[in-house]
Amino acid sequence: MSARRPEAVDPRGRFVPEAGGVLVPGASGNLGARHGHSLTPRRASLMQEPVLVLNATYEPINVTAVRRAMVLLLKGVAQAEEVHNAEVHSSAHAHKVPSVIRLLAYRHIPQQSRALSRKNILLRDRNTCQFCGKIFPSSELTLDHVMPRSRGGRSSWENLVACCYRCNNDKGDRTPEEAGLKLARKPRPFTLHTSRQLMRLIGHRDERWRKYLFY
Ligand SMILES: [Zn+2]
Repeated sequence: MSARRPEAVDPRGRFVPEAGGVLVPGASGNLGARHGHSLTPRRASLMQEPVLVLNATYEPINVTAVRRAMVLLLKGVAQAEEVHNAEVHSSAHAHKVPSVIRLLAYRHIPQQSRALSRKNILLRDRNTCQFCGKIFPSSELTLDHVMPRSRGGRSSWENLVACCYRCNNDKGDRTPEEAGLKLARKPRPFTLHTSRQLMRLIGHRDERWRKYLFY
């Protein structure tokens, strides 16, 4: 399986439940469908809560939704490491809602190489204009070529940043230095390190994630 999955978090660090989770063959599909029972959550939103996914080695590798995590648990490919007090009920069983799950078999996670896209740039920059430091909805952000295209600036992770229209206008065809603007931080490719930061961002409300993310 090498298909690239959609993001699990939106550019503001909120969890996007519809987005893909960890890459486990055959783990998709409706929850419980092949197990002959259906799960009825007390709160529908509970099934969308984020769940931290650990590799067999306890290394955090992804964030998924409760619904998908339950599929992995029921299939026996993962086990719950941390649970919420809440339960979901199937016809035969009550299941504790997982907060952290761990894959039972080690999965090789390729060095993360994400597609260079507007969405991923905004995600990396957390929807923050890299010149004025303000957070904007995606619709109010554009991508700025730090070194202008007209002057040979390339469309690359290192040369594209999230930028509000106002700053983009101010900057025009100039370098940040020429325009008297300062980059919030040096733009870098989206790495596993970036993913970890996003995991922390998503998990900051859940104490149970802490020990796995080392913060
Ligand atoms: Zn700005």
